[in-house]
Amino acid sequence: MSNEWINTPVSHLETPCYLYDMDLLRKTLSGISSLANPLNYKVHYALKANSNDRLLQTISQAGFGADCVSGNEIQKALQTGFPPEEIVFAGVGKADWEIDLALDHDIAMFNCESIPEMEVIQERAVKKNKMARIAVRINPEIDAKTHHYITTGIEENKFGINREDLPQVLKACHSLSHIQLRGLHVHIGSQITDLDVFKSLCLRMNEIQDYFRREHLPVEHINVGGGLGLNYEQPEKEPVPDFNAYFNIFKEFLDLHPGQQLHFELGRSVTGQCGKLITKVLYVKEGVNTRFAIVDAGMTELIRPALYQAYHKITTPTSQREPLKYDVVGPICESSDYFGKSIELPELRRGDMLVIHTAGAYGEVMRSNYNLRDHLYFYYSDDLNRFPKI
Ligand SMILES: *Cc1c(COP(=O)(O)O)cnc(C)c1O
Repeated sequence: MSNEWINTPVSHLETPCYLYDMDLLRKTLSGISSLANPLNYKVHYALKANSNDRLLQTISQAGFGADCVSGNEIQKALQTGFPPEEIVFAGVGKADWEIDLALDHDIAMFNCESIPEMEVIQERAVKKNKMARIAVRINPEIDAKTHHYITTGIEENKFGINREDLPQVLKACHSLSHIQLRGLHVHIGSQITDLDVFKSLCLRMNEIQDYFRREHLPVEHINVGGGLGLNYEQPEKEPVPDFNAYFNIFKEFLDLHPGQQLHFELGRSVTGQCGKLITKVLYVKEGVNTRFAIVDAGMTELIRPALYQAYHKITTPTSQREPLKYDVVGPICESSDYFGKSIELPELRRGDMLVIHTAGAYGEVMRSNYNLRDHLYFYYSDDLNRFPKI
């Protein structure tokens, strides 16, 4: 039903809805490929950012691999066209059935997050008489300078193996018969906008790599994870993130040896800007000091503001009245259920539509049916220009 709505006025869209700009997604994908392919970089799309079938089919068709963090994500990647040999599997808590599933499908690699996990993978691989290819996820102790809930690469973080434990990792690699070390993996966080962070990461990776080389365990793959940030403040200025600047940092600062391939796991930067959450104003309520616009979407459809105090730009395509200040809030019974605080918008009335931008990553995937909510609609557009105000 992709284009059916295209001639309907915005105000006729069923709300709340996610509207995906498929044209922008394709532009983003081809932008990444045109830079990554000549450098022989391989990009695995991180399914956890958005695992909508339509988006995944488009991404797999564009030749991307898949980065999964659960058994169900592996299933979903297979169903939507990602070849098993281009699927990697990360996560601190892989259950036995998930490891078995990955072994049965001969996926490319496990990104191992602890030595006990390596031992369990060995045990399951022995039972199936299979060789498990792994990368070890190392905690590089680089501060991503982003929100603390989405920082993953510093000490005392549950993710990755600390550098002090590398000698034991080497020992395990040598002694575990059904495990084959193929790569080194890091992922330091998400929504990283300070590109110097990636430079520090490259320099640290060079040290870690040298250590493995000295210990006679050279690796074929260096996987630097994801994390490239988006422009949430002014999405219209940067609908496609600056992948050129991003890849250039790795080209300049990371030592790749002959035969080595560099892998990325991009999530947010691939799908973030192509998704918009559209919601309708139900009521305008005057508080003592605050004017509330109460809308029909809530944290059940987009939890990022409630969870991380994340900022999303909000616009209205249906009002050109004089601007006023609003708190834009949802109907859910939680005080944290808001989309914007004290933001200026043209005067709103019941029935006006709001567009919440940059909602294509960690939006739909984190929806819930708290309060037994179940009304959410989806539209896919190949030509958003027909709605200049969206
Ligand atoms: C979340 C995650 C990613 C993707 O991060 P983005 O910030 O969305 O690019 C990549 N790799 C791993 C291991 C992750 O957990």
